[in-house]
Amino acid sequence: MYRKNAWNKYKKDLSEVMNFAEGYKDFLSFGKTERLVTIYAERLLKEKGFKNIDEVKSLKAGDKIYVINKNKNVCAFIIGKKPLEEGLRILGAHIDSPRIDFKENPLYESNGFALADTHYYGGIKKYQWTARPLALRGVIIKKDGTTVDFNVGDDPKDPVLGIGDLLIHLSADQLQKPGAKVIEGEALDITLGNIRFDEEKDAVNAKKYILNLLKEKYDIEEEDFVSAEIEVVPAGEARDYGLDRSMVAGYGHDDRSCAYTSLKALLDTKKVEYTACCILVDKEEIGSVGATGAQSLFFENTIARLFNLLGKQDALYLARVAMTNSKMLSSDVSAGFDPLYPSVNDSKNAAYLGFGLVFNKYTGSRGKSGSNDSNPEYYAWIRKIMDENKVNWQNAELGKVDQGGGGTIAYILGNYNMNVIDAGIPVLNMHAPMEIVSKVDLLEAYKGYIAFLSK
Ligand code: MN
Ligand code: MN
Repeated sequence: MYRKNAWNKYKKDLSEVMNFAEGYKDFLSFGKTERLVTIYAERLLKEKGFKNIDEVKSLKAGDKIYVINKNKNVCAFIIGKKPLEEGLRILGAHIDSPRIDFKENPLYESNGFALADTHYYGGIKKYQWTARPLALRGVIIKKDGTTVDFNVGDDPKDPVLGIGDLLIHLSADQLQKPGAKVIEGEALDITLGNIRFDEEKDAVNAKKYILNLLKEKYDIEEEDFVSAEIEVVPAGEARDYGLDRSMVAGYGHDDRSCAYTSLKALLDTKKVEYTACCILVDKEEIGSVGATGAQSLFFENTIARLFNLLGKQDALYLARVAMTNSKMLSSDVSAGFDPLYPSVNDSKNAAYLGFGLVFNKYTGSRGKSGSNDSNPEYYAWIRKIMDENKVNWQNAELGKVDQGGGGTIAYILGNYNMNVIDAGIPVLNMHAPMEIVSKVDLLEAYKGYIAFLSK
């Protein structure tokens, strides 16, 4: 159902919409980092009978398996009736979100404060991250290999952390700066503490005080931050948004809203002809690079591994054949039309909250540069499936021509010569510490993804 208000379908009873969002809020509140999303995803997969590929000796139709790559990247499959080389139905979302990372050597002392130096990750409007409660989530790996879970600020009993901003009274110079410079990258440092003792004997500065605390609580030394991933993220849980509770406010809807609906769709799909697959990748926000990003050979190697387990020779060659014959929805969010900023969109080609799953034929910027431009033959096939299954869907471009732009993982899988189109959920405040999605769009995306996997 193209460009129709999806709330109409649930007019008599909103409970299906509201209940689905409860599961999502739990996922989003837990999944503050890609590692945490991976843990949550594995829990859901196990509950539904999916087995870790390491425990499997061979595969047959109907088998459910998953693979985890370096604790930050998940692939899950339901083996189809059709031969694997005829292709897969793939849902691919990313589970990293814009944030602020600790530097390798973060701790310092300044004017009686202990602070942590940071380097932001992904595209952020830096001024949005100051003067608000933040949490530290991540891991510290000690030299002996032990993993220390570092987790402060999300439990209501925890302290919160934050980044200072200048008081309005002394901001005359600051407020003359352009938005991109109001808060500069090196000013995004985290305040860690202020207790210090400066008696002549046994003087302890604020940094030393924090180091003592860390030693006591986590048994870590300053040098251990070198081999750590500490992510600074907004503190607190996902919440209902709006007096009518129609939306969810939370951190990381980009792209965990599509990750959740894609994974749930795989978990809940009853019957598949072709092998169904959900991949959750890392590093999309910085170009899908590295071992856990979409450009990694991990996915291709995993498909080859499936062929091995199916008893086939030439597994790598067959993996390429299977990928060429695959169909994919690149499950990534779209920019929702914001009534406060209508001028950046072409209203005929904008995504509206409440109108369901959004298809983006292309992404990119400035003359579609860097875009995966989906083939119309494939797009036609997809919209038929959506309509047959009464899924509310819409189309969008990311803003007016030359207004900006953005990319997804679509073109990377497109390089395998498979058919790919972007299909996701419209988001307001994208990349801000508090993003917004509509509950009814979550549900329509989930239903659309199931329809796709089942076809
Ligand atoms: Mn995204
Ligand atoms: Mn993004």
